[in-house]
This record gives sequence, C-alpha cells and structure tokens, in this order.
Amino acid sequence: MKEVILIKDGELALKGLNRSVFEDKMISTIKRRLKKYGPVTISKAQSTVCIEPIDDSFNFPAALDDVGRVFGIAAYSRAGVCEKDMSAILREMPGYLKDILKDKKTFKVEAKRADKSFPFTSPQISANLGGEILKNYPYLMVDVHSPETIITVEIREKGAYVRGAQYKGAGGLPTGTSGKAAVLISGGIDSPVASYLMAKRGVSLLAIHFASPPYTSIRAEEKVKTLISKVARYCGTIKLAVVPFTEIQEEIGKHCPEDYFTLIMRRLMMRISSRVAADNGCLALITGESLGQVASQTLPALSATDEVSTLPVLRPLIGMDKEEIVVISKKIDAFETSILPYEDCCTVFTPKHPHTKPKKGQCEMAEKDLDIEPLIERAISGIEYSFIE
Ligand code: ATP
Ligand code: MG
Repeated sequence: MKEVILIKDGELALKGLNRSVFEDKMISTIKRRLKKYGPVTISKAQSTVCIEPIDDSFNFPAALDDVGRVFGIAAYSRAGVCEKDMSAILREMPGYLKDILKDKKTFKVEAKRADKSFPFTSPQISANLGGEILKNYPYLMVDVHSPETIITVEIREKGAYVRGAQYKGAGGLPTGTSGKAAVLISGGIDSPVASYLMAKRGVSLLAIHFASPPYTSIRAEEKVKTLISKVARYCGTIKLAVVPFTEIQEEIGKHCPEDYFTLIMRRLMMRISSRVAADNGCLALITGESLGQVASQTLPALSATDEVSTLPVLRPLIGMDKEEIVVISKKIDAFETSILPYEDCCTVFTPKHPHTKPKKGQCEMAEKDLDIEPLIERAISGIEYSFIE
C-alpha cells in the first residue's frame, strides 16, 4: 500500500490572512529538509500537508524523524493510501494497520469525509472498517469510549487515507516568519537552548561566537559548531561568525580594573555583535542569560551590557531555573556536548571578585583607557564565517 506523511499545522491556524504565507514557508522548509531522502511531491488541502514519495528510494523513517523537528507543525503521522472505494478500503487497510494494532487490545475507527460525494456516511465507514479489522485481528475489541488506539480514515479528494495515532510536532512558527536575529553562542548549556527557543518562534538565526586562541582551543570551537548543528536540525543551516577576541581580552586585562573584567568583556561582545548583526540583516540579539545565574547576570549588570547594544537584546531564558534549561538542553540533544570541559573565553580572564552592581557611568570609567573603536574594527575584520548544517 502506498504510504504518505500527513502534517497538520499548528498556530498557523490563528494567522488569518497571513496563513498561506506561513504555510508556504513551512512547506518550503519541509521541501528543503526532505530533499536528501529522495523525490517527493508535496501538496496541501484542507489544512493538511501531504508528502508523497515518488518512488521506493525514499527514506521514509528518516524523513518522518526529520519532520518531527520542523517548526510550525502541530501534529504529523504516516498514513496508508488506497483508492476511494469501500471494497478497496476493506481489502487493503486492515493489512496496512498490522504494526499499529499489534500490541493493542482495544481500538475504535473514526472516519472523516472531506469529500462529501463519497457514497457512505462517516458512521458507515467506521462500522464497516471496524468489522473488517475485527475479522482480521480476532484478539481485538472495539471500545468507543476509551480505546487504546484510534484508527482514523479520511476520505479526501485524492483517495482514502488511514492512520493510527498522530505524533506531536515541534510546534512554534515556521523558520524565517519572525525575521532574523543574532545569537551570541558559547559552548555552555544556556545559549544553545536560547537559540532553539527563539528559532521555535520563527526567528532565522545568525550565530556569533567569540574565540580567544590560544587561551581557548580549537576543540572549544568545534564544540560550539557541534552545538549549532544540534539547533540547525530544527531550523536548517545556520551562518556562524567566529570573532577573534584574544586582543580585546588581553587589552582589558592590561588596562581595566580587575573587578570589571567580565562586564567590560561583555560590553565589547555586545558592541561587536550589534554591528555584525546589523550588517547581516538581523533585528535583535539573543543571549542565554538567566537572571541572577552568575555575577554578570544581575539586573544592574544586564543594564550595563544593554546600554551599549544598538539592537534589542532577547533573553528567552531570563526567568528560567537551570533545571528547566537542562530539560530543554537534553531534549534537543545538546546537553552531552555542552558539558564537555573545554574552556570558554569567559572563563579565561575571570576576576576573583566580579562586580555585581555596577552603577551607571562606572563601566565607562573602568573602560576609559581602552582604545575601543580600533579594537572593535580589528575584531570585526578578523571574523571567519562558515555555514553549519
Ligand atoms: P552559556 O551556558 O550559554 O555559556 P553561561 O551561563 O555560561 O551561558 P555566561 O558565560 O555568563 O553564561 O554567558 C552569558 C551569555 O553570553 C551566554 O549565554 C551567551 O549568550 C553569551 N556568551 C558567553 N560567552 C560567549 C562566547 N564565547 N561567544 C559568544 N557568546 C558568548
Ligand atoms: Mg558560558
């Protein structure tokens, strides 16, 4: 029996006139993502997107797994398709349902007729197919109130579709429907989670990473790339800018008071990121900061870094506890990579007693001996770009 993937979009349903724009974005993401699994046709009708393999070369399980990570999808399922004819339905569908029914005791059939010209009513379709399933699988019983599994038959324009339970989709909004933002990404637990959460809201990401060789190693940079690739599994290819940060950190070390090292370093990161982001068409910055987690994430410290950013700074983790962040980190399969013990530039020049309550103006005083503008320009001119899939 021919098999397809059926997709229901989620929040898209709320978008009124924008709906088809959102749907088209989602479909183009699906198309791009599934290309590597073999040729398919993709069609949409009645708020369902249907992915139909053109031949047997299509890697169905891998495609199904990938669809589970495409934002904008509320639910998806694999479905068998046969001719829109009652005897074909009864002949072919029970066999197709073998795997779905194998460990079950109770079931019920629900029928939906998108094509009202089909000469049987929904209750008749359910009753006929239910009876046929019972004949084929005598160990099963019908339970209309709380069945272990619901078999759904949909009579659509192009044929009759049958499926078991739907899988829950990735939710959120299709990539790119919320514009573009730049995420400051380290090798830690938080920033990959922040990236994932904003990508889930439809943001297309540029990743910016600050590296301080030889204080930070090539392995630390590889780790960051691996983390970005974990996020890219959800939102597609991400452009990465690696900013050389060694000179800036050394200059801070030479010319600034030690208790301000971290704050000034973060202010430089914000200044550079604002420019790189704007040059790449981004409308906001994203960080993995969570209120009070470390000295540089108190409200005064956050205002001291916001002060120098020319773009809004989005902090999706600001109200989350570490435990809540770790749950998401594990869900996106980033955690094991994040906890690998490679040094980040933030940990290289950590002051013993960092300032947690900088007052307005104090950071300017502390960085007055830095020749900021040329430092920023040299860092930006040394950026190396790559694309992470
Ligand atoms: P993370 O787990 O994301 O590393 P963290 O709790 O270790 O976060 P910090 O090291 O203080 O916190 O960094 C706060 C935020 O600053 C990070 O979430 C990230 O957005 C940004 N950041 C830190 N280090 C870098 C870096 N080397 N390159 C780019 N951004 C960074
Ligand atoms: Mg960190």
